[in-house]
Amino acid sequence: MKVLVTGGAGRVGSRVIATLIARGDQVVSLDLRENAQAGVSNVLGAFDDATAVERAMEGVDAVLHLGALMSWVAADTPKMFAANVTGTHLLLLAAKAKGVRKFVFASSGEVYPETRPAYMPLDESHPTKPTSPYGLTKLLGEDMVQFFARAYGMATVILRFSHTQDATELLDPNSFFSGPRFFLGPRIRQQEAFGNRAVVEALKPYDDGSEKHLISKGQDGALFRMPITDTRDIAAGVVAALDSERAIGQVMNLGTEEAIRIDEAVAILQRHTKLPAVEVTLPIPAVNYQTSRARAIEILGIRPQWTFERMVADAIAQRK
Ligand code: NAD
Repeated sequence: MKVLVTGGAGRVGSRVIATLIARGDQVVSLDLRENAQAGVSNVLGAFDDATAVERAMEGVDAVLHLGALMSWVAADTPKMFAANVTGTHLLLLAAKAKGVRKFVFASSGEVYPETRPAYMPLDESHPTKPTSPYGLTKLLGEDMVQFFARAYGMATVILRFSHTQDATELLDPNSFFSGPRFFLGPRIRQQEAFGNRAVVEALKPYDDGSEKHLISKGQDGALFRMPITDTRDIAAGVVAALDSERAIGQVMNLGTEEAIRIDEAVAILQRHTKLPAVEVTLPIPAVNYQTSRARAIEILGIRPQWTFERMVADAIAQRK
């Protein structure tokens, strides 16, 4: 099978490609960056560049559309819509024109109002009401994918990914997601970039310039709590969705079954980092949600393997 993996140089894309190459599939990566793995054919280009998309789609049997621009910085919104909305549309058009057999789309839990769910665990029937421009681009992507299934009979699968990390990122204060989530200094810099002045003001008094963990509470005093999924579990789910006939036409939440509380997560990290932690009440609602994975487990027949504790243990082992 010849598979086009978009975002092939990214966290999830590069893991998926490793699995596909190992089992003998032909793989094309469409990304702004190169995937240097042996056997991968790289098309370097943007999703909203129709010429690059057409070149990447040549002779392809299935598309795993895993690439996207993820940003919560307001100034990035126009280029995020170009990459995630226009780009997804161009990919669908090219896939239809070339008669591609299956199109798997990486959506996100951010299509739900994750910070204020109507009920938990969030399942696939929960209303989709994104609260970020990024979440909106993913919901628009889902709508387009559903349209191509409905109007043109395309075999599609929509996977709503959990928040996802490489295990090694958890211990890295400079990593994109985990730095600001678990470390005070990086969170202050992130919130400055987002323009969230009230959050910055709440955090700054705790900053003496030394590295510290951060335990975030919402304005109602609730501790932050959320699922944090290992990239390997997401990649396994993507490959299973590619292979599964039953997955066609489905929308599925993909990720860990565990929602970890921030104080528990920081305690696990501290066993290794030995850093102090500060607990800060932020002037915003707590991020506090749990997501159901029952549908994906039932349809794909695989369970996520990596708890937060196992991810940290693996990250420490990899460092050694
Ligand atoms: P990533 O940032 O590691 O990889 C995304 C890749 O897309 C990068 O290699 C990047 O170069 C490429 N890319 C970005 N804009 C592009 C453009 N305009 N043209 C071509 N390539 C472009 O992301 P990831 O963590 O591997 O996420 C994979 C998918 O899962 C994305 O669609 C993302 O929106 C979704 N998702 C991720 C998470 C998460 O927490 N990581 C959560 C939910 C959903």
